[in-house]
This record gives sequence, C-alpha cells and structure tokens, in this order.
Amino acid sequence: MIPSYDSATLRDLLEGKLPWSEVHGIMSAFKDPDRFDKMLEIHQSRVTWQDRILLPYGENLYIVQTADARRVVKCACGQEFGDYRQNWKLEALIRVRSSQAEIEELYPKMMAANAEWMQLREFICPGCKTLLEVEAVPPGYPILFDFQPDLEAFYEQWLGRKLPTGAST
Ligand SMILES: [Zn+2]
Repeated sequence: MIPSYDSATLRDLLEGKLPWSEVHGIMSAFKDPDRFDKMLEIHQSRVTWQDRILLPYGENLYIVQTADARRVVKCACGQEFGDYRQNWKLEALIRVRSSQAEIEELYPKMMAANAEWMQLREFICPGCKTLLEVEAVPPGYPILFDFQPDLEAFYEQWLGRKLPTGAST
C-alpha cells in the first residue's frame, strides 16, 4: 500500500521539525502520487504573492507562472530573476571571495582551498538579501547554470497532466 501523508506532516518535514525516524519512513516509502501537489500547496501558502508555483527551485526560489503568462524564477520575498530558461544568478547580487583571507573566513584553518585555484561566489537576493546559492569554482570560470528543468515533460510524464498555464491560484 502506498502511504499518503497529510499536509501538516509534510509541512513539518519541509521545516525540519520531524524526528529522524519519521523522516526516514517518509523518504523510504514509495512516493505517493499526491505528495508533489501537497508540497506545492504548502510552498504556496508560505509566500505572500499570488503567482502560481510550478516547481520549487531551491530553498527560497521557485519557478512560477506570472499573471502575464511568463515563467520566471522568483524568490520567496517576491524578487524576480527572469525567465527560468536563463540563469537566474546573473540577476543576483554576487559576492566573490577571491582572496585567501576571504576564503578562510568560512573554513577551519588549513582546510580552505588555495585562492589561486578556487574562489567562492555567493549569490544574494537583491530584494531580501538572503544568501541563495554558493558556488566554488576556479577563478575566471563561467557562472554555473545549475539546472534547467524540462517543465512540460515533468508535468506530463511524471505528474500525468498538462503544465498549468493559468496565472494565479
Ligand atoms: Zn528575496
């Protein structure tokens, strides 16, 4: 039998409030078909804007359908980062830790990478100043585009329905 979890349980899971034994049980069970929809409902209830969330895209980021029918990356605070097929990081504030001292602020002594070989780029939301993502790359390396989901295929093949085109919920 496929277990189904109520919204309160999933909300606790999302917020890290469930004991490990319960989390493990949920994680190892077969994914119930309506779990995605419940998670979307919870995410939607936690933001103040009306755009329909199509896919959570990170801890504070979502791909949403806007009222004027665009699909954009959006922060929980409402800041938009442009079309989801482009790299949202290019619209973020970027702090680069490129000196040895700056890198060592974050690592225990002798554990930090050599600044000649690696820099840390911190991507920060211009709206709420939340640190959204960090990448560690060689100096001069292009900004990474983490992933571009195939939204249509995800909805049609995995959820078994069309990608919503309606704007608000
Ligand atoms: Zn934000």
